[in-house]
Amino acid sequence: MNSVTVYIALGSNLGDRGLHIEWAVEGLAACDGVSVIAQSQVLESAALGGMDQPGYLDCVVRVETSLTADVLFSRMTEIEDSLGRVRSEKWGPRTIDLDLLLYGDEVINTDRLTVPHKQMHLRSFVLDGMCALAEELIHPVLSVSVHELHNRVNGANYFIDKDKPQLVSIAGVIGVGKTTLGEGLAKEFDCELLREAYDTNPYLAEAYAGKDVALESQLYFLNSRFEQMGKDSLATGSVVFSDYIFEKDRIFAEQTLNTAQIAVYNERSKQVVSEIADEVLVVYLFDGPGAILDRIHSRNRPYEQSIELEWLDGLGREYDRLFDDWKRCPVIKLSTSEFDGRRSEDVNWLAGQIRNYIWKS
Ligand code: ATP
Ligand code: CA
Ligand code: CA
Repeated sequence: MNSVTVYIALGSNLGDRGLHIEWAVEGLAACDGVSVIAQSQVLESAALGGMDQPGYLDCVVRVETSLTADVLFSRMTEIEDSLGRVRSEKWGPRTIDLDLLLYGDEVINTDRLTVPHKQMHLRSFVLDGMCALAEELIHPVLSVSVHELHNRVNGANYFIDKDKPQLVSIAGVIGVGKTTLGEGLAKEFDCELLREAYDTNPYLAEAYAGKDVALESQLYFLNSRFEQMGKDSLATGSVVFSDYIFEKDRIFAEQTLNTAQIAVYNERSKQVVSEIADEVLVVYLFDGPGAILDRIHSRNRPYEQSIELEWLDGLGREYDRLFDDWKRCPVIKLSTSEFDGRRSEDVNWLAGQIRNYIWKS
């Protein structure tokens, strides 16, 4: 009989959590046709979805099995039952939870089983354990490594929330190709692209020319972003792309405004920030400053031609820093040396990734 390599997540947040996990692993090992090969470290995490319940202990095990996915899943349910699992509210507290993450590279969609587990790529508490056991393993639906999936969630845990506007923002320095990519994606999803109000900003050319209209320009942008991305402007559950990320506003404000201007900016910004829709996903495009400068020169917008390498490099580092500790939504980082937003294969591939991170009505 062929054996299949399987990954199972174990979680407990009731009673002696560590012991429940230990018993469940022993329960798996005791099943005919199942061998437990490896177990990740047990880690603690807060309950998902801001629910008021005890923290979880979680781990992942690698198993070799001759059982079908369906039979294995029945064994897992029996182990849950034997440890006193009471099924009540969704995501409610439980002595033990066993989720079938991966069954070889099979994709399964039956009434009781979806494999790969639907949420695994959104959960650091699962991907931490997966990375410890099989960092290079390729997710059979997303076709990227567990390591890459882990980077995208950056230590946080998410769930797909249909009650939010499905705002996907494209971030990156000027000239990296955000608008072109946004146009391609909006077409693919047959939805709107929110474009940064670049061409309509009456102050921008003057600001690039060195005139002190920085504050006016910045407030113009802040207002237009609010008009575009305010919670009241976007429909719950519908997909929409933007060719900029709201948070860039502060990066630019801090670069261009003096102390007195920042104070004015902060006043207005305070009123706006809490009204802005959260991104459900960010696509971050990055590239070396030299390549970007070449692109800026070739598109030849007059007021951009004074942009300098050093400034671009600094801006790139600001964006990197923003995403280093970003915990608001998953981030797909793409180097434009490998990903080209003008190519339809690349846009299709990215659209396929995005579909796994947003609500599809
Ligand atoms: P989540 O699945 O988001 O982690 P949960 O573990 O709290 O939530 P349960 O109440 O344990 O959810 O299970 C809900 C349903 O999920 C079960 O009826 C089960 O049949 C189904 N299910 C589908 N695919 C899987 C899978 N790969 N592993 C475990 N359960 C699955
Ligand atoms: Ca679960
Ligand atoms: Ca479960």
